[in-house]
Parts: sequence; structure tokens; C-alpha cells
Amino acid sequence: MIPPDAAGGVTQATVVKKTAPKTDYKPADVSPQRRVQRSYSVRLWSIRHSRGLEWFYARFADMFLMLHPLWKLVGYGRVEAPVKFVERHVKGFMFDCRMCGQCVLSSTGMSCPMNCPKQLRNGPCGGVRANGNCEVEPDMPCVWVKAWEGSRNMEKGDAILSLQKPVDQSLRETSAWLRVTAQAAANRETEKAGASA
Ligand code: SF4
Repeated sequence: MIPPDAAGGVTQATVVKKTAPKTDYKPADVSPQRRVQRSYSVRLWSIRHSRGLEWFYARFADMFLMLHPLWKLVGYGRVEAPVKFVERHVKGFMFDCRMCGQCVLSSTGMSCPMNCPKQLRNGPCGGVRANGNCEVEPDMPCVWVKAWEGSRNMEKGDAILSLQKPVDQSLRETSAWLRVTAQAAANRETEKAGASA
């Protein structure tokens, strides 16, 4: 890594740009680190509107839980593919979701921690730049700086202080929506059984 002030305040991104071979071809929408830049703006919009999204997500989760009998009838395994398709595209567009299968957006100010190049799930590393950007992706705002900002707008924003488990790689490419729904339904049934016993 080239420290920001090693070359008189020049960032690594500028160095990469300057040293790139000069041709007329300029790829659309990619940063020197090959990240899609245009997606940052939607991601940042979602973080700025974290409170509204928190409200919406709570209703959405309730609706999914209401549909539990239907998911069960059809079979969770069978509905996985279409639900995953929708989840991937909706969350991919809004949050740059990486389909880790264990969504923590509601605990991270609607900023997906899987966009951190180091995939840290419990706060930033020590390399956040003075401008709040990532040390690995200098053009990208640190996902954890943004997570903190987003969490401050949320009703249950203090969930960001809870310790997150390490990512279970076996759950990658599975639907977090269905998993949370099935878990909530199981908890509800356990509570009901406990109350009637
Ligand atoms: S935490 Fe996981 S499921 Fe949630 S948006 Fe990020 S990659 Fe997707």
C-alpha cells in the first residue's frame, strides 16, 4: 500500500490511474480497483434512508412470516430458487449484497459489511483514511463508517454494538429471507407450545 501522504497527499487510486497504459479505451463504471463505482450511490442512498428501510424491512419480515404456511406447503427447498433470485437482485441493487446468507443489514445501519474488502463483521480495521474511505479501495467510503452513520438514524440502531458471529461460509448463496422466516416461525411455535403446556 502507498500511504496517502507518501507522495505529497496523492492517493493510491491516483497513482494507479497515472501509471495505467494510455489508450482510448475507458471501461464504463469501474474504478482503478475494478469496483463498480455507480453502485456506491445507491448503496449510500440506502444508508441515508436507513430508518425508512428499517420500518419497511420489519413489515416485509412480518409479511414473509405470514406466508410461512404457504412456504411450508410448497416446501422451503422448492421456493428457495425464485426467492433467492428476487433477493439477489433487489438487495444487490440496493445494498450491493454479496449473498452471504446471514443478513445483518438491520444491525449495520443498512450498510452491507460484505462489501468491506476484508469482510469484517464487527467494525472497521485500523486503516480507515482521514476522509473516511477504505484503505484498500480508496474511492470507496468505508462500509463501517457508513454503517455507524446509518445506525444513528435507526430506531434499533444500537444493534450495531452487538457482537456478530463469523460468517458461516456454508450459508453463502442461500436466502437470508427464508432462513429468518423459518427461524421466526420455529420460535413462534416453540413459544406457543410453551404457553399451552
Ligand atoms: S449482510 Fe449478507 S445477506 Fe445481508 S446484504 Fe450483506 S451480503 Fe447480503
